[in-house]
Amino acid sequence: MPTPASILKDTFGYDSFHPYQREIIENVLAGRDTLGIMPTGGGKSLCYQIPSLMLDGLTLVVSPLIALMKDQVEQMRTSGVPAVMLNSSLSPYEYQINMDSVRDGSAKLLYLAPETLFTGRISSLLSQIELALLTIDEAHCISEWGHDFRPEYRQLMDVRQRYPNATCLALTATATPRVRADIKSSLKFEQSNEFIASFNRENLYIEVTPKRDGIGQTISFLEKFKDQSGIIYCFSRRQVDELAAYLKMKGFSALPYHAGLERETRKANQEAFVRDDVQIIVATIAFGMGINKPNARFVIHYDLPKSVEGYYQEIGRAGRDGLPAHCLLLYNYSDVSKLRYFISQKEGTEKRVATEHLDAIVNYSEDEINCRRKPLLAYFGETYSDDNCETCDNCTAEARELIDITIPSQKFLSCVKRTGERFGAGHVTDVLRGSKNKKVLRYGHENLSTYGIGGDLTQKQWMHLSRQLTQMGYLQKSGEYSVLNLTPQAIDALHNRTQIMGHIQEDERQSRKVPETLNYDQALFAILRQKRKELADEASVPPYVIFSDKTLVEMSAYYPQSLESVLKMSGVGQAKLGRYGEIFLKEIKSYCESNGIKEKEKISFRERSDKNRRYMIVGEMYNAGESIQNLSERYQVQTGTIVNHLVRFASAGNPLKNGTDLQAQTSLSPEEQAKAIQAFEELGTDFLRPVFEKLNEKISYDDLKIMRLIALSQ
Ligand code: ADP
Ligand code: ZN
Repeated sequence: MPTPASILKDTFGYDSFHPYQREIIENVLAGRDTLGIMPTGGGKSLCYQIPSLMLDGLTLVVSPLIALMKDQVEQMRTSGVPAVMLNSSLSPYEYQINMDSVRDGSAKLLYLAPETLFTGRISSLLSQIELALLTIDEAHCISEWGHDFRPEYRQLMDVRQRYPNATCLALTATATPRVRADIKSSLKFEQSNEFIASFNRENLYIEVTPKRDGIGQTISFLEKFKDQSGIIYCFSRRQVDELAAYLKMKGFSALPYHAGLERETRKANQEAFVRDDVQIIVATIAFGMGINKPNARFVIHYDLPKSVEGYYQEIGRAGRDGLPAHCLLLYNYSDVSKLRYFISQKEGTEKRVATEHLDAIVNYSEDEINCRRKPLLAYFGETYSDDNCETCDNCTAEARELIDITIPSQKFLSCVKRTGERFGAGHVTDVLRGSKNKKVLRYGHENLSTYGIGGDLTQKQWMHLSRQLTQMGYLQKSGEYSVLNLTPQAIDALHNRTQIMGHIQEDERQSRKVPETLNYDQALFAILRQKRKELADEASVPPYVIFSDKTLVEMSAYYPQSLESVLKMSGVGQAKLGRYGEIFLKEIKSYCESNGIKEKEKISFRERSDKNRRYMIVGEMYNAGESIQNLSERYQVQTGTIVNHLVRFASAGNPLKNGTDLQAQTSLSPEEQAKAIQAFEELGTDFLRPVFEKLNEKISYDDLKIMRLIALSQ
């Protein structure tokens, strides 16, 4: 008897479930109506695809995106799932064949668009079969509170009534509580179960950097992503056209996409991107809805997005295959002013909402201290509590020293007070810097004692300081004009001359570490990718339908030499092995022969679902004699991540082998090492900061992490 787990492996070639896939599948199989909310790339499709292979009767999938159906059906078929669709893109002959296969039960999975549900032919077809599972994809479309309401989704309620025995599975990536409730009540879920996966996308590296020379910065970024796919978002159509043309001239493979282009051109450009014929799409935000391209390796925001939600959705289009992807936002204040200007032309609620959205994205962009994931996930009602995500610019930045900013802080806070707590940061800064602008003169603020005492810092630096003071809780912003008020904490600080530590913004930020990409053989990857492209073009499907990038990356990292080993690669199930196994094996073998490379064994570790336990496995393997370097290759993560796992392992009370391997990870002299160990013995190993300070801030946090581990292992 096949189980969900065996189907996952044999049919789809995956070792473990993503979060909540198993729970959703089990609920569906138990006949309970289920609502599943997962971020893009979370793996919603498997939640009905696996049950469809286990249930007696048909699984119907209602999805609004006809354009995607064809690819999805192809994808299912290459994996050996009997899936069909019925829609207007089929020839009458194909339509008839598909009808027949649904009727005689040879098709287990049927994709339909909502508007066709009640056409005569479909209606009569559905009355002849047994419906086991009704799946509603993009289920938020049923709710008027959603951002994408579709009236035709309302008909789904009637379908439910006609098939009271069919289980219903609603899936979406949009998660507001109101929409959730609406979906359940519209669909008359009685005793339902709800699963909400985390919206954190661990594989996305998130970076915001000041935009100085947008084009130059974009080009040097793209040079690091040679031959890889990605999206560049711009604010205006004109910008899109210009940038796309410029990139093309510079020899990049790029095409534009925006609503001003002819329909045909738009479609062709999108298709070229999905099929890997072109690497880069330069687009307005119109691009992305309803395209399923799992291997976008980067998303650049060339201009500031209008809201955090939009931004998160856009960067979410990178790395849907779960491999690392890089998201870069180029930020500068003139973009903010431009958007403010647009907003100033609006009125009423619309204006207020747009201002709030803009303030939020500005705050997010200017935050140089907190993990980027915190504010992003907070938007989806999630609290991100890890200290260091290791995949955002702020978390991977060299620890920046805090300096004494008491004096400028006092100047700023007093000026807020003197101007009556009735103005925003811009005006306060003008007063501090001794501006003679109209507003300053109108209020007579040139007569204040704080007038002109702040010439030592630039306007930008004052604005930055103001935001820091807000984040530290000294100031509070309120109202449409972001009026600043002192908090009791600020009054107290002024009164007691409390020392305040923080940062004064430098003109340019230090260059930041970019995480290593995966450790795999790029030359072999290029060969396999080429092969995949040939096969895809022959079959006239997008490349990912054959194999995902992840599969090719694993092949180029482990060099499988037999079909048995190929089967261990992520995404290789029985059907794909039969169809493509030999073809790829031949390429790999011939490459390995001419380069004298041997197979590396893949130990299939359980990916995400067991991620919380990975430190245990890493710790045990380390104790069994594996080097840190080997472990980092095996898990395809940075050595720093392995060190963190070991810290967790040791902190949980497991003895850790004290090897020379640890010492090799640091460049500290024996004396420095001894000092650090002593400091850890004195101050404990829970926090790094006290030790950092005790050692006069001379030893980097990276080195301290290693030293902590050595201390723990002794
Ligand atoms: P969603 O519809 O939620 O955006 P998909 O169903 O398209 O996500 O899945 C995204 C990608 O992740 C696909 O390439 C899919 O094959 C892959 N995937 C899904 N589940 C798993 C899993 N358990 N292990 C590995 N890859 C998976
Ligand atoms: Zn972070």
